[in-house]
Amino acid sequence: MKRILTLVLLGVLAVVLLGYGVVSLLGSGSPTIDSGEIRDNYGETVEVTYFTENNITSPAEDVTEIIEDYEYAYAGFTPAYANMDVADWRMILVNRDFILPDGYMPELENAVEGGYSEQKLDYRVAPYYNAMYQAALDDGVELVPISGYRSVERQTRNFENKIQKYIDDGYGEIEATQMAATIILPPGTSEHNAGLAMDICSLYESFENTEEFEWLSENAADYGFILRYPKDKQDITKIIYEPWHWRYVGVEAAKEMKASGECLEEYLGVVTAS
Ligand SMILES: [Zn+2]
Repeated sequence: MKRILTLVLLGVLAVVLLGYGVVSLLGSGSPTIDSGEIRDNYGETVEVTYFTENNITSPAEDVTEIIEDYEYAYAGFTPAYANMDVADWRMILVNRDFILPDGYMPELENAVEGGYSEQKLDYRVAPYYNAMYQAALDDGVELVPISGYRSVERQTRNFENKIQKYIDDGYGEIEATQMAATIILPPGTSEHNAGLAMDICSLYESFENTEEFEWLSENAADYGFILRYPKDKQDITKIIYEPWHWRYVGVEAAKEMKASGECLEEYLGVVTAS
């Protein structure tokens, strides 16, 4: 009897192992979901679900691979399509030169668990924001999520309102469009449309003088977030200094960028001439 039981158990084990092997084989080369821990600033660990990618290449040499001219409705802009098939999705480059594919819609999840806020991020990013939010809260700092994912339609309204404001001020259409784009990115070229970035706490430059900004400057990289539009990189990003806009790039890249002081375009080696 004992022997039969042992044989049955061994049989079950063999089936499980075989199944695992097949799943592993099928899964190679595509993202896998894991759960694990990330360490906060005080050496404590935070449970998160995170994603690992197989076959990650060196920093996104392929972010600009798909170059296809895009017929853009706005004067003075000739973006190419952003490559959404980069080996490491965290390196997806969306800016005024690289636009999201038509109809791109990230899968979304609340940035902060517990129904506190309706602000959402790409479901692969949200757990990291939540972990960062909770760690900051433990330090007495609240990283209020004020604008995460934004639809292209909403981006269009915001952008066109801004252009109209400059036209009303007497600027020509091209100039008005270019000026608007330093403040609000044209639809489809914002990281908010991709669900990869969060505006935190405020939309005023004075945010840089707050303890929330100080906390982010010290700790955000530990959760994979970078200050996306630094003050000294405006000639490269072509975006005004935005102390409130934090983009997820993964912990390793965020730490490297924090250490080197590079902005994302520099890190990826795709600085375009102004
Ligand atoms: Zn933003």
